[in-house]
Amino acid sequence: MVVYLGAPAFQLPVPGLTAITPAQWNPAPDFRDQITAKPGKKIGVVIHYPGIIAGDYPRIHDCAAAARATQLSYRNDPDRGYDIGYNYVVDQPGRVAVARGLYRSAANGTTDSNSWYLAIQILVDPDEGLTPYQVLSTQRIIHWLRTTQGYGLAVLGHRNVKSTSCPGDQIYAWLKAGVFDPKPEEWPENKFNPWAGRYGALPDTVKPTLHGGEIENYVVSYLQGVLINEMGQVITDPNGTYGWSTVGAVMNMKLWHNATKPPERPSMDPGTGTISQFEWDYLDFLVKT
Ligand SMILES: [Zn+2]
Repeated sequence: MVVYLGAPAFQLPVPGLTAITPAQWNPAPDFRDQITAKPGKKIGVVIHYPGIIAGDYPRIHDCAAAARATQLSYRNDPDRGYDIGYNYVVDQPGRVAVARGLYRSAANGTTDSNSWYLAIQILVDPDEGLTPYQVLSTQRIIHWLRTTQGYGLAVLGHRNVKSTSCPGDQIYAWLKAGVFDPKPEEWPENKFNPWAGRYGALPDTVKPTLHGGEIENYVVSYLQGVLINEMGQVITDPNGTYGWSTVGAVMNMKLWHNATKPPERPSMDPGTGTISQFEWDYLDFLVKT
């Protein structure tokens, strides 16, 4: 029986992922796979790479072009009776071309691995080029498979199921280090950022020292928001400019800190308006508590 892949197989409803369906990557000739539907075992995924010379394969940036080229080359290969061996193909910007999709077994090289693992191909140069976007997208796919599709925890390299260099030394080293295991708590949308939100966005890695006298400065705006809202300070001109009323509020903040701190904790100098890392940490504490 010939099984034509229908539209439902191409859905990849994963938040944060850009999925490109076969209708969008436009296979030529038409996508016409004859792969049996997946059996029941769902152990995990097998990771692949293109494994060909970079100069011959400039499509690592474009999963649609890569999927199209792979499908065409497989169709022209008399030893292969199918279009493309992978369920998903992840390019360097992190987009995902849906190939066999969710409901067809993979081509991992052995009968068992075909049946028990979906295949994810990560587009890199022969042994390098893995991007953080690819890592994040691969994690998202795996997380989705585990949490909504009943897949197990296995994340294997192709070389774990068959004698091959795939998925290349770089990807395999990262795989062994667990980089593809989903870490939703580290995904951008879930990362707690105490500097963003309540008083305007300030990247959590940036805590510049303020000396007083800054003009129309977004960091000063943030500081003023914290002093007003967390400490009830009065600032007559909370406009991002570090003038005298902000100096007064900072002085009060430092005196308050010194009066309430545990004995072992250093004091702040209320004689200056400087906000250094030490003061930022205290303000951060006020915001979070
Ligand atoms: Zn492979």
